[in-house]
Amino acid sequence: MNVPFVSFLPMERELDSDLRNAFNRVFTRSWYIEGQEDAAFEKAFSAFCGTKYCIGVGNGLDALMLILKALDIGEGDEVIVPSNTYIATALAVTYVGAKPVFVEPEMETFNIDPSRIEAAVTARTKAIMPVHLYGRACDMDPIMSIAAKYSLRIIEDCAQAHGATYKGRKVGTFGDAAGFSFYPGKNLGALGDAGAVVTDNEDIAVKVRALGNYGSDYKYHHIYKGNNSRLDELQAAFLSAKLPHLERMNAARRQIADRYLSEIKNPAVILPLVSEEYVPVWHIFGIRCSRRDELEKHLSSRGITTNKHYPIPMHLQECYRDLGFSEGDFPIAEEISRTELSLPMFYGMTDAEVQAVISAVNDFA
Ligand SMILES: *Cc1c(COP(=O)(O)O)cnc(C)c1O
Repeated sequence: MNVPFVSFLPMERELDSDLRNAFNRVFTRSWYIEGQEDAAFEKAFSAFCGTKYCIGVGNGLDALMLILKALDIGEGDEVIVPSNTYIATALAVTYVGAKPVFVEPEMETFNIDPSRIEAAVTARTKAIMPVHLYGRACDMDPIMSIAAKYSLRIIEDCAQAHGATYKGRKVGTFGDAAGFSFYPGKNLGALGDAGAVVTDNEDIAVKVRALGNYGSDYKYHHIYKGNNSRLDELQAAFLSAKLPHLERMNAARRQIADRYLSEIKNPAVILPLVSEEYVPVWHIFGIRCSRRDELEKHLSSRGITTNKHYPIPMHLQECYRDLGFSEGDFPIAEEISRTELSLPMFYGMTDAEVQAVISAVNDFA
């Protein structure tokens, strides 16, 4: 049996007519940017998150970058980001002219280790960007305490965690503002690129909206040197069609994860940590294995496609050579990059597919 790493087919089959209706609605109206679909999705998504404001933007990277800009973070400033994340987190900081300062993750959760943040704070530090990686919330209480102690902003990277909770509270509601991505593969995905900023802070909301629309507060009047990063009507309409199904689809991912967690029994494999205070949405189900590449080959020989998140940590990326790091500088992120393997995880995976993955992992000698 072939098991893909991810497939959109089950979701697409189920929502086929909803998505086509969304397209027809926009096409019939013949209005493509800044219209009622964008406004309707923003309203629905802020309600989903439990925030006062939502601003649709072009993608997740822009969401983070526009928040940083709105907070006047730039040249000469430092922003703390995890050493284990997708490149966009660090690039958002770089794009506004600030310096990303990497902090190691916890090996067990893959998320930024709160106990290591304080040592990275300097007089130039302006913000912490916790990333709720793989769909599991960061340990927010200690992060909030450190931010309060040093008057730092918190910008949550929620690109992998739509709907995840920490101590009963949804991600995206802890920081000054949060960035979401609706890249097709994310838990809530558009049919193209899209993103959003959510916040309870009106000043940030107003400024992010202007910054993403050429720095304009009203037509042909520009108060900032802004960007063009808007959520278009088609993507907003597709997202509105999918949002009502997000909780159910996240729950389906949790069922798959529960089977992996209870039925994978192989001493060579370390399963991801789960704890009561966290409800993850399993964007990625990442296991660790010291013979990761052999396990990858074994699964591949059984028709199972896996992935690595992420094979090269931030500090060793070619584009960040200017920061002057070398191997050994962030040993935990490096160890994760050498040992993490992501198993197939998507809405609509069949029991037989889940079983095939479990059996193949358990057969690995
Ligand atoms: C996907 C992702 C982003 C960027 O989102 P795009 O929509 O691809 O720009 C940012 N941070 C993390 C952790 C992501 O996984």
